[in-house]
Amino acid sequence: MNGLPFSLPDFHPGHVWLVGAGPGDPGLLSLLAVHALQNCDVLVYDALVDERIIALARPDADKEYAGKRGGKPSPLQRDISNRLVELAREGKRVLRLKGGDPFVFGRGAEEAQVLVKSGVPFRVVPGITSGVGGLAYAGIPATSRECNSAVAFVTGHDANGQVPDTIDWASLAKAVPVLVFYMALKHLDRISAKLIENGRDPDEPAAVIARASTPAQQVVAATLSTLHDAVRNSGIEPPALIVVGEVVRLREQLDWLSALAQEK
Ligand code: SAH
Repeated sequence: MNGLPFSLPDFHPGHVWLVGAGPGDPGLLSLLAVHALQNCDVLVYDALVDERIIALARPDADKEYAGKRGGKPSPLQRDISNRLVELAREGKRVLRLKGGDPFVFGRGAEEAQVLVKSGVPFRVVPGITSGVGGLAYAGIPATSRECNSAVAFVTGHDANGQVPDTIDWASLAKAVPVLVFYMALKHLDRISAKLIENGRDPDEPAAVIARASTPAQQVVAATLSTLHDAVRNSGIEPPALIVVGEVVRLREQLDWLSALAQEK
């Protein structure tokens, strides 16, 4: 990138950069992510990457889609990782772009492990994970001194599409005041029930945030016991996060995005 008072690392041929694209808003890309987009030979991107971000890639870069589309089964993770190795061995500058942060529920670790095994040099460029940036766009801080001193990121979805059995609901419900669930919208009723069964207050504030930081952002705030019905009546669609905890209440004061929209 031009005009910076410092230099960014060169994107060498034969290297892979595993880059986080953030939750959607192109303005949330890091300088390194933009630098990678401007210098890559091939861009391998996921379903969750906003098309306005893809449009920032060097015009003559090849673009390869590596997600699920049009009901077709998604490519196997192994095939995606092998493709990255293959492209790097062809001497390309390979940009592997993922939604949010590549190392937060993004299978970035699996891809990086294959690169290591194959001897392909790579760099990781963190992105703003939706569980932090998406919440911020909904006016919900992930932590606030008055509410919580811990927060957990939880997946609502295992490899078989089910709520993972490895989750220790009793400990989570008891120990962590703010819970942020990824890939969980489908299982919202089960998740709420599990938390209430394990001692969370049914009246605790909870919200669903869909397509955070994009023009289609939607937020439904309710309580742990009423969120499921509120969401059902809202037509909200994934990708979405579920957030449970007192921090959700702060949205009443901190919903800056709606305030700015009204100012227009
Ligand atoms: N690596 C990504 C997460 C990938 S898992 C990250 O760090 O954000 C996919 C899940 O991420 C979705 O099911 C959803 O729960 C969440 N997600 C990603 N982008 C989102 C967005 N813009 N709005 C709401 N949820 C989002």
